[in-house]
Amino acid sequence: MTIKQFQAESKRLLDLMVNSIYTHKEIFLRELISNASDAIDKIYYKALTDDSLSFNKDEYYIKIVPDKKNRILKISDTGIGMTKQELEDNLGVIAKSGSLAFKMENEIKDGHDIIGQFGVGFYSAFMVSEVVTVISRALGSNEAYKWESKGAEGYTIEPCEKDTVGTDVILKIKENSEDENFDKYLEEYSLKSIIKKYSDFIRYPIKMDITRTRLKEGSEKEYEEYTEEQIVNSMVPIWKKNKNELSQEDYDNFYSEKHYGFDKPIKHIHISAEGTVSYKAILFIPEKMPFDFYTKEYEKGLELYSNGVLIMNKCAELLPDYFSFVKGMVDSEDLSLNISREMLQHDRQLKFIAKNIKTKIKNELENLLKDERDKYEKFYKSFGRQLKYGIYSDLGAHKEVLQDLLMFYSSKEKKMVTLDEYVSRMPEEQKYIYYAAGESIERIEKMPQTELVADKGYEILYFTDEVDEFAIKMIMKYKDKEFRSVSGSDLGIETENQTSSDTDGEGNKELFEYMKNILSDKVKAVRASKRLKNHPVCLSSEGELTIEMEKVLSAMPNSQNIKADKVLEININHDVFKSLKEAYGKDKDKLKLYTDLLYNQALLIEGLPIDDPVEFSNNICKMMI
Ligand code: ADP
Repeated sequence: MTIKQFQAESKRLLDLMVNSIYTHKEIFLRELISNASDAIDKIYYKALTDDSLSFNKDEYYIKIVPDKKNRILKISDTGIGMTKQELEDNLGVIAKSGSLAFKMENEIKDGHDIIGQFGVGFYSAFMVSEVVTVISRALGSNEAYKWESKGAEGYTIEPCEKDTVGTDVILKIKENSEDENFDKYLEEYSLKSIIKKYSDFIRYPIKMDITRTRLKEGSEKEYEEYTEEQIVNSMVPIWKKNKNELSQEDYDNFYSEKHYGFDKPIKHIHISAEGTVSYKAILFIPEKMPFDFYTKEYEKGLELYSNGVLIMNKCAELLPDYFSFVKGMVDSEDLSLNISREMLQHDRQLKFIAKNIKTKIKNELENLLKDERDKYEKFYKSFGRQLKYGIYSDLGAHKEVLQDLLMFYSSKEKKMVTLDEYVSRMPEEQKYIYYAAGESIERIEKMPQTELVADKGYEILYFTDEVDEFAIKMIMKYKDKEFRSVSGSDLGIETENQTSSDTDGEGNKELFEYMKNILSDKVKAVRASKRLKNHPVCLSSEGELTIEMEKVLSAMPNSQNIKADKVLEININHDVFKSLKEAYGKDKDKLKLYTDLLYNQALLIEGLPIDDPVEFSNNICKMMI
């Protein structure tokens, strides 16, 4: 018989499993049971739409049979089974994203004990087995096939006998080693407790033959052993239980059992609503951003159940985009089982539930912010950007929901603060909420444009995300205070410069006009700066579009070359200004040189590209010689 090779990614994951030093190897059972349960689900759904099939609940179960003597553990199901081709496709190739094995390897290298948090699936069987055999007969077929593998070397497939539809996964359990006890996977008692721990809410019965003792018939002191088939799992789904029956661990287990994420959720929300529409829901706020979160592959949505029966894996209608990171499920008796995707969009009950859920998530996030700030900041690090996109989207329609969840880095507090905190600290005479936009905190810290506002003692919020300014434009005002960019035209601050006569008047005006002509349409104007204290120049903008926004927009694909109206500001208290004046009086060529240099410097400070870098460096050399 020929040995077939695993596809490369599968082989890598398999190697990881076989050589795993992971301590929670027991999760292999959870993975196999959940596969078995999925296989039964598949028959169930088929029966919903296929009249020739009936689903008789009693015929569907999972059975666990340990054979201590031969070191065999068998996990059987009466599910849909697999054809020869499916055995090949499903078990020879890793179904998950190809990057999973890679990601896991790195996590393990980094010392994270993480396998249990990944949905590693079928291959986890190799953590505890020397040989894995799968015997399967697919629904509608008379043939059965046997798939077998000892690990990374490959696998074989051959025909075999099986009387009933379904799958047997047969594990040859490894021998105990010095630091690992594999015997426990053959013991009734420990198997039972592993099933309870991870698979208690599986909807189908998980059966085991449990050994018990009883008095021998007719005897008064002689005992005999007998076996009795028991259902080991409670089958009651977690969301149907009372909150006070459940521990944090139950929720965490549910999260990883459902493969909602590889992390530990920051918070769970358990809703049990009675009334106009009754429903139960368990929602999770994850801690970490899924690696595909900002890709097309990421699908938002909650699992949707109708009275305990799954009707949809990812019901997108239940979550607004700005909460797309939320994971979890909803179960309602008031939803029809045979509801189609199209109908769902208009379903009144569903709309009602979605609205409730939205409010609930918002409230819980606000509570987290109030009561567990550290956790909230962790959350915000992962998903804050999504909230800001939410404010920007739909022309700001969601700003009321989201604005109190925002946080920005504060120049004064040197940490993240909320808008409410900012406003409550504003001194009486401060009119606006000031912000500075830039690539990073370090860069903003050095921005000349912040000088005046900072000098006034006002707090500045640092906008380091591209979306920040766009979102703020949608909010416009928070608690009646408008936002102002420190690079904007009017800061609303009275300065000495402004009141002194030596601003744009008295001859300076002509100089600035002359400079403006040199720069032609690169700038709207050249002006005496009211905001600079130490730096010689900076750029500011007039109108709605700021320089940061120009940067963001021009970085976008198909950008329309949209430009902010820029103003070149000159610090007239700086010695550079004296040189400008002198040149204006004596040497216009020199003035042109200076003007170009200053303009380019201002661009560089802004992090904008300069038009002609070669000319710029030539000009500097000209000055030096
Ligand atoms: P996942 O379950 O996450 O898709 P697995 O590696 O656990 O990944 O399983 C791969 C595929 O093999 C499953 O998607 C399913 O199609 C098939 N499979 C596994 N176990 C069974 C089973 N007991 N019955 C039917 N199909 C199964």
